[in-house]
Amino acid sequence: MATVLVVEDDEFVRSAIIRDLVGRNHAVRSAGRALDALRDIAHFPPDVVILDLGLPDLDGSEALKMLRAISDVPVIVATARDDEREIVRMLRAGADDYLIKPFSGEHLNARLEALLRRARSAPAAKVIRVGGISLDPERREAYLEGAPLELTRREFDLLAYLCGRPGVVVSRKELLAEVWQQSYGDDQTIDVHLSWLRRKLGETASQPRYLHTVRGVGVRISAPR
Ligand code: CA
Repeated sequence: MATVLVVEDDEFVRSAIIRDLVGRNHAVRSAGRALDALRDIAHFPPDVVILDLGLPDLDGSEALKMLRAISDVPVIVATARDDEREIVRMLRAGADDYLIKPFSGEHLNARLEALLRRARSAPAAKVIRVGGISLDPERREAYLEGAPLELTRREFDLLAYLCGRPGVVVSRKELLAEVWQQSYGDDQTIDVHLSWLRRKLGETASQPRYLHTVRGVGVRISAPR
């Protein structure tokens, strides 16, 4: 059993897919527009997403790109276009598998279960992305817009901790406890590391792109607008 998000604007197709998946004991949610789906994924991450490429509000590859910026959830794209170039493009944009419409419930379920098996046996560590930053905690590698970032151990830990909480203001006290593993210490230590990190990210405190200091509270990482 899995939690599946079905993103499909055609009500007839959508209800047929939902009926079939529910009949196979999956918990199913649905959305008819890409932006509604992205909001849903951000708030209640499903186990797998079935994404129709012909949605009214966003182009399929655009939707996939935005989805990948916030989540590593397995995605099966459903496309009416029997077009190899399109399929290759989608797989490169982060889709895990694809189905060409029309497909049977049985076919969808087989793909879905194969995907879930792979996802569940894969190591837990995943690549974290915030805007142009991507970070692999397992390999301890970080990239900015595809270029490797040369970070010290502490800088990496600091960036990884912040990237794990995008949009959240993290206090210095929390950073000290979680990154430095100290219950008390010197705020300056953190500020110095933040300024080194800023330099490597090509920004300054007065002109931040990713690292935003919230005076008297802490620091927040978010993708540049
Ligand atoms: Ca459609």
